[in-house]
Amino acid sequence: MTDRELRLWTHHDSRPRKVVIAGGGVAALESAIMLRTLAPEAVAVTLACPETTFRWRAERIAESYGADPASSHSLPGICAGLGAEFVHDSLSAVRRETREVVMRSGAELEYDELLLAVGAHPYPAFESGVTYHRPADAGGFDEVLDDLDDGFIESMAFVVPPGVSWPLPAYELALAAAARRPELSVTLVTPEPGPLAMFGARASETVGQVLATGRVAFVSEPAPQVESGVALRAGGKWLTADRVVSLPLLAGPRIPGVPCDENGYTLIGEHHAVPGCDDRIFAVGDGCATPIAQGGIAAQQATVACTRILEHAGVQSPATPTLEPVLRAVLTTPDGPLYLRSDPESPELTSEATTSPLWAAPGKVASPWLGRYLAGTGRAEILQPT
Ligand SMILES: Cc1cc2nc3c(=O)[nH]c(=O)nc-3n(C[C@H](O)[C@H](O)[C@H](O)COP(=O)(O)OP(=O)(O)OC[C@H]3O[C@@H](n4cnc5c(N)ncnc54)[C@H](O)[C@@H]3O)c2cc1C
Repeated sequence: MTDRELRLWTHHDSRPRKVVIAGGGVAALESAIMLRTLAPEAVAVTLACPETTFRWRAERIAESYGADPASSHSLPGICAGLGAEFVHDSLSAVRRETREVVMRSGAELEYDELLLAVGAHPYPAFESGVTYHRPADAGGFDEVLDDLDDGFIESMAFVVPPGVSWPLPAYELALAAAARRPELSVTLVTPEPGPLAMFGARASETVGQVLATGRVAFVSEPAPQVESGVALRAGGKWLTADRVVSLPLLAGPRIPGVPCDENGYTLIGEHHAVPGCDDRIFAVGDGCATPIAQGGIAAQQATVACTRILEHAGVQSPATPTLEPVLRAVLTTPDGPLYLRSDPESPELTSEATTSPLWAAPGKVASPWLGRYLAGTGRAEILQPT
C-alpha cells in the first residue's frame, strides 16, 4: 500500500486522539508503530517508559552463553522516528474519572485512550537453586556458567515451575548448557506432558528429537519441587544435580486505579479493553490477564487493541483483526533455529516444526510491525499481512 492509498484509507476527526502508551517492550512498540503508521494525523501518541532502550528479551539466552549482546534500540529514537512523544517516566496510577495517568515523578498525562503495556514482574518460584532472570539478576546464572567452564559441574537440571506459561527459555538454556560441555549431564524437568506440547504432537515429537540429539533428558512432572540447590523432587523421586536452575514465575503489575485479578494482572474484555473503563483503557502483553505470556501473542493483542483505538479516531481499518492466538516461536538449537507454529484451538491439525522460516521478518518474536520496523522495512511492505 502506498502512502497516498494510506491517507485515502484514513478517515479521522479534526483533533488527533491523545493515546498514552505505558511501556517500552514488544506490546508497547508494536502498538506505537501500528498507530503512527496507519493514522499519523488522527492519533497523537505519547509513550511513557522508565527505560530508554528496547532489547529483545528472547535474545538474552544466547547472550548469557557468550553471544554478542542483544541489539538495543533507543526508545526516544524510535519515538522520534514515529513522530511520537517519549516520556522517560513510569506510570504510577490511573485516574479514570478525569482520564489522566499519574507518573512516578508526579507529572500527569491526559489521555483519550490509554494502552497499558507494562509487562509482568518475575519472581523466584523456589527458595533454593538459581533463578534465571536476565538482565535484572544475571549474577546467579553467570556464576553457574563460570563453574561449568572451570569444570566444577558434572550435572545440571533446568526446571519449569508450575504456572509458567512460556517454557521455551528452559529448553534453550538446557540445550546450550549441554552443547557447551560434552560430558555434562543435563535434565529438563517440566509440567508439560511432552516437549513443548503446546505446539501440538508433530512439533513436540521434533522438539523431543532435538533434545535427544542435544543430550538433554526430558522429565515430565506436573509439580516439580526444588528442595535445595542440588536436589529436587519429581514424580515422587529425588533427582540430584550439581546445579538446579529454574525459570521465574510472573506476577501482574497491579496498577492502582485499574481492575485486576488476584495475581495483579489487568482484566481485559473484548478488544482487550479493560472492563468498566468506557472502552478508553486497553491492556496488552504480559501484564494483562491472558493465558499465555509470550511476545508473539503480545504483538497480536496489540493489533486488536489498536484497531479499536483507530476506530475511535474514525479510522477505517481494511480488516478488523480478531484475536486468533497463533503460537509462533523459534527454538534456538545447537544446529540452528527451529521454527514452531500452532493454533492452540486445534494444535494437532496445525502443529508445525521446521528449519525454514514460517513467517516474514522471522525474529525470535513474531511481531509483524515491530520486527519489520526494526529490520528497516518500509511502511508499504509493513502493511502487507504476514
Ligand atoms: C528469557 C526469555 C526468553 C523469551 N523468549 C521468547 C521467544 O522466543 N518468543 C516470544 O514470543 N517470547 C519470548 N519471551 C517472552 C517475551 O519476551 C514476553 O512475552 C514479551 O517481552 C512481553 O512483552 P510486553 O511488552 O508485554 O512486556 P515487557 O517486554 O516486559 O515490557 C514491559 C515494558 O514496560 C515497562 N514498564 C514496566 N513498568 C512500567 C510502568 N509502571 N510504566 C511504564 N512502563 C513500565 C518496562 O520497562 C518494559 O519496557 C521470552 C521471555 C524471556 C524472559
